[in-house]
Amino acid sequence: MKIHFIKRNRIFIKTVTLITGIAFNQNLIDSEISVKNENYKREKMKKTESEWKKKLSSEEYHVLREKGTERAFTGVYDKHFEEGLYLCSGCGIKIFESESKYDSGCGWPAFSEAIPQAVEETQDNSFGMKRIEITCKNCDGHLGHVFNDGPKPSGVRYCINSVSMDFLPKNDNKK
Ligand SMILES: [Zn+2]
Repeated sequence: MKIHFIKRNRIFIKTVTLITGIAFNQNLIDSEISVKNENYKREKMKKTESEWKKKLSSEEYHVLREKGTERAFTGVYDKHFEEGLYLCSGCGIKIFESESKYDSGCGWPAFSEAIPQAVEETQDNSFGMKRIEITCKNCDGHLGHVFNDGPKPSGVRYCINSVSMDFLPKNDNKK
């Protein structure tokens, strides 16, 4: 009887381990998929130029779609240091956090890092300068440029047009 009991018990424990193991792995797979969906498998927002013109203000259209630059020291977020998130004004995805914003004195909002997988870097040789252009990964809107003179530890300065961003204060983040 005793032996039988132990055997049964072992089988029971093995079965439980197997089931919980599967459930645990499934959870892992599910969470990996959801992270991937958010960060890697996002489909780009595609609009025609006339659709963009309808959606954006003329200022936003000029900066986001025609790669314009707002005049230095004129942007609404240049000296703005509230806690919250900066969103792409073209499509609304989160691109920068207030924690990485600092006063670089350059005349445009500056950030030491971008939210992972939110922006794209492209070599830009326009106007006889060698710069790296920053665009929104979701809608390809022009945001600004990134330079190697930022504060440590990242050492980079994302120099971003205020026009390319909307601000979501921290207390509204849960919406
Ligand atoms: Zn965007």
